[in-house]
Amino acid sequence: MSVVSNASRRAVLTGLAGTVAGCAVTPATPVTGFAPRRIAPILMAPERIIRITVCTRPFRATGPRLDVESVGETKVVHNYGHGGSGWSLSWGSSAIAGRKAMALAGLAGGPPVIAVIGSGALGLTSALQLQRMGARVTIYARERAAFTRSMRATGSWTPDSRIADADRVSAEFPALWEQMARETYATHQTYLGTEGDPVVFSDRYMLSGGADLPRSLEPPPIRTGPGVKPIRFAEYRLDGLAPRSFPLPASASPFPVGETRMVSAMQFNVAELAHRLETEFLAHGGRIETRTFNTPADMMTLPEKVVVNCTGYGAKALFEDKELIPVRGQIAWLAPQPEANYGLHFRGVTVLSRPDGIVVQATRNDMNGVGIDDETPDRGEANATIGLVAPLFPPIRRLPSG
Ligand SMILES: Cc1cc2nc3c(=O)[nH]c(=O)nc-3n(C[C@H](O)[C@H](O)[C@H](O)COP(=O)(O)OP(=O)(O)OC[C@H]3O[C@@H](n4cnc5c(N)ncnc54)[C@H](O)[C@@H]3O)c2cc1C
Repeated sequence: MSVVSNASRRAVLTGLAGTVAGCAVTPATPVTGFAPRRIAPILMAPERIIRITVCTRPFRATGPRLDVESVGETKVVHNYGHGGSGWSLSWGSSAIAGRKAMALAGLAGGPPVIAVIGSGALGLTSALQLQRMGARVTIYARERAAFTRSMRATGSWTPDSRIADADRVSAEFPALWEQMARETYATHQTYLGTEGDPVVFSDRYMLSGGADLPRSLEPPPIRTGPGVKPIRFAEYRLDGLAPRSFPLPASASPFPVGETRMVSAMQFNVAELAHRLETEFLAHGGRIETRTFNTPADMMTLPEKVVVNCTGYGAKALFEDKELIPVRGQIAWLAPQPEANYGLHFRGVTVLSRPDGIVVQATRNDMNGVGIDDETPDRGEANATIGLVAPLFPPIRRLPSG
């Protein structure tokens, strides 16, 4: 095994710095053998932050709510509470809710007329699944897709992220979860290779070791809400579905760390994906109306008598769902770098390059943010998170100010 010094591995990255400055694109090449991989360095510095977003994951200990409730004459099919897996379970969960809604609406008197409340990942996919099943659909939502919490997601395939409490979930849930995950994975793939690349596969590097790399700042603290007890989050695996990771020899790793594993993983370019789903829905005759529901009884005023409720964390207040627990998550977005088309995980930080910016997110502890619904951005947390992964890349030289 050849030994490559940290200095020369850094050089692989540094060698491309000029390319970045000149705006020429050098895409990561597929693995053929184990030649050193040349990838464009990410300009990892707080000065590159374009926005900081905070989102609340809607976590339920028993998993997403998919039952039917009667509100007067109106039948409400619930489809919310997908924790950190909303995009990853969206199509499958919405197919289940859609079939229930279609059965309730019946076919007498022409196409079923069904309402969807909410325009996030679950609302959009519910509306499209219902259209594909033959229904006429109106979405009612307080916020349009671009302004929902779903837009603040990382964009990774994470079907079992904070999806249930292993000690509270039913014995039947794993099979239901698998059904949702498999259908979602397959349906997202129908958008691969389509205009705008709403869904792509990208390279991810899982990095460990690197103890000799500097730390410019302490890691951000793990925070939970008052009185929160530890949760044993359920973990599920799907055999033979997604590509598997493999180790890269040190000589082939573009990063100056002890161990590198690599995998090709599904990535949602969320801004483009949500725009595509909304456009598709409207093009097929769907309607979107801005509307806020203050109580479930407000739904009785709709002309539709079957409603799919996709209000995400909003369901906590609307349906007084005490099981719904907020899980805060923050992302620092760096200016987009299309030439750096990969992601990585190091020191409990996830980095993912997307067309609308580079995600930098602290992901080292699943309890982080549990019980917190404060969506105020924390600049200190953003800087500390960037500081943990910045040493992977060539330093950015800062000119003295003044
Ligand atoms: C930092 C972070 C990163 C994440 N990354 C990923 C990821 O990579 N992959 C993944 O699969 N998941 C990820 N998630 C989880 C994902 O974001 C959520 O599971 C998902 O957004 C939930 O979608 P939703 O449609 O249920 O809710 P929302 O996106 O919150 O949409 C709710 C909709 O309902 C409407 N609404 C709510 N209340 C009312 C009301 N009273 N009246 C009218 N309308 C109402 C809203 O306006 C909105 O349109 C992440 C979460 C966080 C916090």
